[in-house]
Amino acid sequence: MSAKDEKINLLVDMGFSEDEANMAMTTCGVDADLCVLVDSISASRVAGDCHSRNLFDDQVMDRCFDSFGEREKARLMEERKKKRKRYGGGSHGNRSSLDGSDDEQMHLPNPMVGFNLPGYRRPSVMRMLPQQAIGPPFFYYENVARTPRGVWETISRFLYDIEPEFVDSMHLSAAARKRGYIHNLPIENRSPLLPLPPKTIFEAFPHYKKWWPSWDPRRQLNCLQTTVASAKTTERIQCLLARSSNPPPPSVQKYVIDECRKWNLVWVGKNKVAPLEPNEVEYLLGFPRDHTRGVGKTERYKSLGNSFHVDTVAYHLSVLRDMFPNGVSVLSLFTGIGGGEVALHRLGIHMRAVVSVEIGEANRRILRGWWDQTQTGTLIEVADVKSLTPDIIASYVGRFGGFDLVIGGSPCNNLAGSNRHHRDGLEGEQSSLFYHYFRILDVVKSAMARM
Ligand code: SAH
Repeated sequence: MSAKDEKINLLVDMGFSEDEANMAMTTCGVDADLCVLVDSISASRVAGDCHSRNLFDDQVMDRCFDSFGEREKARLMEERKKKRKRYGGGSHGNRSSLDGSDDEQMHLPNPMVGFNLPGYRRPSVMRMLPQQAIGPPFFYYENVARTPRGVWETISRFLYDIEPEFVDSMHLSAAARKRGYIHNLPIENRSPLLPLPPKTIFEAFPHYKKWWPSWDPRRQLNCLQTTVASAKTTERIQCLLARSSNPPPPSVQKYVIDECRKWNLVWVGKNKVAPLEPNEVEYLLGFPRDHTRGVGKTERYKSLGNSFHVDTVAYHLSVLRDMFPNGVSVLSLFTGIGGGEVALHRLGIHMRAVVSVEIGEANRRILRGWWDQTQTGTLIEVADVKSLTPDIIASYVGRFGGFDLVIGGSPCNNLAGSNRHHRDGLEGEQSSLFYHYFRILDVVKSAMARM
């Protein structure tokens, strides 16, 4: 049997039609890996094509600020122009740098260890913050590290030209999570949460050793995402392995391991893989057990997939502990399930007040449930960042005597996903939400300067 026929047979065995298998072979080439072929078939089943729209263009900006009147919009546009110039207009010209047409891409460090990591002997980076970046308030912005070209440059330009700190949480846990953070916190004398979290799959879940085949070399998990593998995917693997020799031939091994990597599957029985349970994801991300329990399973995976890695964020926020012995007041934008709040709590930092802005009802319920169990401070919940007008922001600033910390990561849900067909997180409506982070922070800064 030719290599081509063998692959077509395997695909048909997996439940795809012969036509689909042939089409995938034509699209991807005869040498393509099995999982590339499966991806291609799945992709062509997904309705609609991956489209690329201009990102963060002026129209988006217009839409985003329409509700705040012409004056506010004009001021921010002017600010944006100035920042664009300051950042080195030459190479960027007057193009919007988020339109994907920039020549340069932000260099992502490798290894992605940020300015420093707990326990690493690498000398800590010295950094001088630009004058306009210095608080109050302290602020902390997070987003996925890998974005379309120019995104981080623009985010940085808006956030006072601060250099992003890129960290892959694989250095602090058993799962990867590549994120960029822009903040004006000191970076010396950080301390990690103790005990340090497990760094390998077997340290985290020793019972999975029993079924782990010797040909699966994974010791850490990939980024924990918002969706998990379907029963079809795990079934397909089980059937394939049942019909293979032991150990399976290299092409089957490769297919299975690629799928396991893509979906973070673990071995739970003979030939049997499964996605992690939500409580296992909570554990890996540093949340208390059952933190997200009480909402649907799909919703739990989604919220966890979007959340902070608590230990990483706590490491960065740990410098606040000595600075604010009487606790902090926090403006938490895009709160999600409260990764920032859980980090502060686990650091032993009292939250006198949190104004939390989160649109998801289930997320708000999760945060409220956790807050009522663990906190004594005031929690104010707001649904939509768009509803925070300058007057409303100023009134919170007055009521709480300013904010000590403005924290948040605007949605980019699927930018880091392995499924390229869902890589639309930074487009249009969603992308414009970053501007609200900047807009709100800017209003807080001005209001606090007047205090
Ligand atoms: N850091 C958070 C997750 C951030 S993900 C955590 O640790 O859980 C981005 C969040 O922004 C999502 O929870 C999403 O529901 C929320 N969001 C999306 N649009 C919003 C809006 N217009 N106003 C407020 N929150 C919004």
